[in-house]
Amino acid sequence: MQGRIVKQISNDYTVKADNKEYICKARGKLRLGVSPLVGDFVEFDEKNNYILDILTRKNELKRPSIANIDQGIIITSLKKPDLDTNLLDKLLCIITFNNVNPIIIFTKGDLLSKKELGEVKTHFNYYKKIGYQVYMNTKLKKINKLFKGKVSVLTGQSGAGKSTLLNNLNKELNIKTAEISMALNRGKHTTRHVELLEVGKGLVADTPGFSALDFDDMQISDIRDNFIEFNLYRQNCKYRDCMHIKEDSCAIKDAVNKGKILKSRYDNYLNFISKG
Ligand code: ZN
Repeated sequence: MQGRIVKQISNDYTVKADNKEYICKARGKLRLGVSPLVGDFVEFDEKNNYILDILTRKNELKRPSIANIDQGIIITSLKKPDLDTNLLDKLLCIITFNNVNPIIIFTKGDLLSKKELGEVKTHFNYYKKIGYQVYMNTKLKKINKLFKGKVSVLTGQSGAGKSTLLNNLNKELNIKTAEISMALNRGKHTTRHVELLEVGKGLVADTPGFSALDFDDMQISDIRDNFIEFNLYRQNCKYRDCMHIKEDSCAIKDAVNKGKILKSRYDNYLNFISKG
């Protein structure tokens, strides 16, 4: 029988199939190779509760360990805490690299002055222009639809309003409030526990550790290649492997100077590769 792993506590995997849940162990042979992850589609023996095989993954993240994620939703506060483009660009870069679709949701826009709103609009429009999905958290109906039929992981700075957003969606989505708020407050737990929760017509990973995403597995060229708008210009750089730092005739630096690439994006890029 085939199903999907929706929960893992230590070596117990909860596999969901035809709306039933089976608590399974992984067959010994499996564990030597690849360990099953939450999100995996598996072939399992429903009589003896053993996972027999893992179907091919489309992607996986290491911290937290989760497979087959459709989208990484980055909850980004505009005020209190202030807009942190460094963290936003870092998360965009890593999520894109991991073959997961990133979506930006800005929160707390109501706390901004008119002048600040203008500055933020520049960012909002820029991220949209380069091809990312960008929403204000007030667009609940649109956000609601994003979750449908998808496995989502939520991330972003603490205090950005992740639980508030989910609770606001609750009215439209019938989320089990207690379950979600419990899940989100479980941030400091130490047991190995990953779970997919049903939110509306989709699944949301309960993964407090997601904010720990890092460039660990990425080369500096991977960081460069996942600043997606650079790819529009890089063929005009003099050097094929241009890192867009101090090379002459660099189309990226040129685009930054002409205002085509947002200065904060380029500065964050330099910051990331200097650490990598
Ligand atoms: Zn260049």
